[in-house]
Amino acid sequence: EAKQAGRGSLRRYTRKLKETAARHNLLRGRLRRAVDHGEFTLHYQPLVDCQSGRIIGAEALLRWFDTELGTIGPDQFIPIAEESGLIAPLGEWVLDTACAELRHWHNPLGTLPRISINVSGLQLLDHRLANALDRVIAAQGLQATQIELEITESALMEREAAGLPLLQHLRELGVGIAVDDFGTGYSSLAKIKHMPVNVLKIDRSFIQDIFTDSDDKAIVIAILALAKQLQLKVVAEGVETEQQLQFLQEAGCDLIQGYIFSKPLPAKDFRKLWAKGVADR
Ligand code: C2E
Ligand code: MG
Ligand code: MG
Ligand code: MG
Repeated sequence: EAKQAGRGSLRRYTRKLKETAARHNLLRGRLRRAVDHGEFTLHYQPLVDCQSGRIIGAEALLRWFDTELGTIGPDQFIPIAEESGLIAPLGEWVLDTACAELRHWHNPLGTLPRISINVSGLQLLDHRLANALDRVIAAQGLQATQIELEITESALMEREAAGLPLLQHLRELGVGIAVDDFGTGYSSLAKIKHMPVNVLKIDRSFIQDIFTDSDDKAIVIAILALAKQLQLKVVAEGVETEQQLQFLQEAGCDLIQGYIFSKPLPAKDFRKLWAKGVADR
């Protein structure tokens, strides 16, 4: 009987694997088509100064709507874009589009100071990223300091040796480098110290559990202390409640990103928000 049950679960497991592979193939095909046809949009989420409530930047986040499959989140399609060689053209599109958009955002204080672009670890191995940055900075008349690249902590650690020269070069140009999802990638403090980065983004999971998990609270406090020591700025991701915001303000966090101020918005809505300059909650 146990053997029967074992066979049954093996069969289910095999079927599941096949389904996953099929879904994967389908997504890969649709994704290639979407890249060729430009079927993506960007949403923008404000980065807000913790003390003043002023908007100081925005993170560009990819959105894909496929006519057959519906809305597919970046957590699903980015890994497929990476393994199928589509990440380089897609990443360039994101950079070009977000930087072109930035030029249209004005308020009495001027242009939005900063746009944050997520880049995949693979893009760090590729000269195309540096070329694309040079090109877009010249074409849009931007300062390099207006652009910040976000690289996840785990991607940074994986590509450490190979990606370092490019990051170094970009930092020297003035491009900002933020470590995304910080706290989840098991980097050592000693390593971060030697990395050409200037911003740490505390992963949402820690913020979420500040008041329910004393370890997470301790980690957030430790990251803020470390950052101060190393003269890095800190962004708290995924801030949703007044209580979290107040805690982060008191703990000396620099910037806030999260639903408490705004979800990621289509370009035209972000433009209106920036025209006001402050994020209400
Ligand atoms: P990320 O860079 O860590 O982006 C933050 C994610 O948290 C976004 O999810 C955002 O919508 C979500 N978020 C922001 N505030 C809150 C909040 O208060 N509560 C909750 N529950 N969620 C919040 P999204 O847009 O689904 O993106 C997921 C991930 O996909 C990103 O994580 C990033 O790693 C990747 N991604 C997105 N766009 C790009 C891109 O252009 N290139 C690359 N390589 N990766 C991208
Ligand atoms: Mg990010
Ligand atoms: Mg993140
Ligand atoms: Mg993430």
